[in-house]
Amino acid sequence: MSFYKKIINKISRKKQYKHWPGLIEGYKKWLPVNDNTPVITLQEGGTPLIPLNKINSIIGNGVKVYAKYDGLNPTGSFKDRGMTLAISKAKESKKEAVICASTGNTSASAAAYAQRANMRSFVLIPDGYVAQGKLAQALVYGAEVLAIRGNFDKALQIVQEISNKYPVTLVNSVNPYRIEGQKTAAFEIVDTLKYVPDWICIPMGNAGNITAYWKGFKEYFEAGITKKLPKMMGFQATGSAPLVFNKTINEPETIATAIRIGNPVNRDKAFIVKKESKGNFFDVSDDEILNAYKLLGKEEGIFCEPASAASLAGLLKLKNEIPKNSVIVCVLTGNGLKDPDCAISNNNSKFKSDIEPSIEIIAKAMGF
Ligand SMILES: *Cc1c(COP(=O)(O)O)cnc(C)c1O
Repeated sequence: MSFYKKIINKISRKKQYKHWPGLIEGYKKWLPVNDNTPVITLQEGGTPLIPLNKINSIIGNGVKVYAKYDGLNPTGSFKDRGMTLAISKAKESKKEAVICASTGNTSASAAAYAQRANMRSFVLIPDGYVAQGKLAQALVYGAEVLAIRGNFDKALQIVQEISNKYPVTLVNSVNPYRIEGQKTAAFEIVDTLKYVPDWICIPMGNAGNITAYWKGFKEYFEAGITKKLPKMMGFQATGSAPLVFNKTINEPETIATAIRIGNPVNRDKAFIVKKESKGNFFDVSDDEILNAYKLLGKEEGIFCEPASAASLAGLLKLKNEIPKNSVIVCVLTGNGLKDPDCAISNNNSKFKSDIEPSIEIIAKAMGF
């Protein structure tokens, strides 16, 4: 065993739990919690890192791609990683209500964790631009949903001002505990692979997640657990790419509603991540996003939401620039079930309806 592997085995291996206890328990010593913190958990984290064998053969050149499938968190997106900590800390300081602006997933997650902690949750969403599954979740979990005539950026501005004036805690990714919780995804990647990938491909909206991943990789590096850092590759949808074009987009548009954000709150942090990690940011068109989305579903058996597929779309766009034998992780941020409308309108599968329930007719329809 190499020296490097031995160190990783010795220091970094998370305890081998029979049942994953949730990320606060699993990574306690890396998180700002103490014995008095009430842990509000749905056993989030511990998500799979799945090899993408068909994608590997498309890219070739010895490149190995994995999906960090964070759509398998309890409310179906990586937002749960940040929310378990943000809500636990709000509960610790005796807060009674939380608020967020959301393109959908933050509201679903905030609602679930807040209600679990017996707190009220208020969510502001852009009317008409939240995928069905996400809205359903917020309502079922018991959030108080306020749909505004305006986009996400406007909603965020309002909740920031409200949380300054009224006794409600803001749980958008400006809340530092969100980033702390989300950084555990980077720990999990290293703990699973036992080495650091060359690239991390990640979709960017407010750029909280790319900031969090980078923080996680840096913490393992600074603790001497790892000996290198990955390049952080961030992707945005072309119609909604303020970090790629370095300007605020007043009317962001994309089919990937989770990243339909024109004025990211973590803009400065994102540019620091890009510089420090020697990474890069690119835009991908809605067509490229949908192509990656369909590939993941049909070729790999992974159903993610359109925003998540931006990570693979970006990687495929850079196909010819990937160094030989690279190991790459694409972060799949949310579950495909969140946005059934998109799925039903964008697939290459056959769907025949109104068929007579007869064996001969069905066998014929099957091509026999
Ligand atoms: C929130 C979200 C993003 C964007 O994450 P940021 O931290 O805002 O950059 C991407 N994909 C999905 C599915 C999301 O819910």
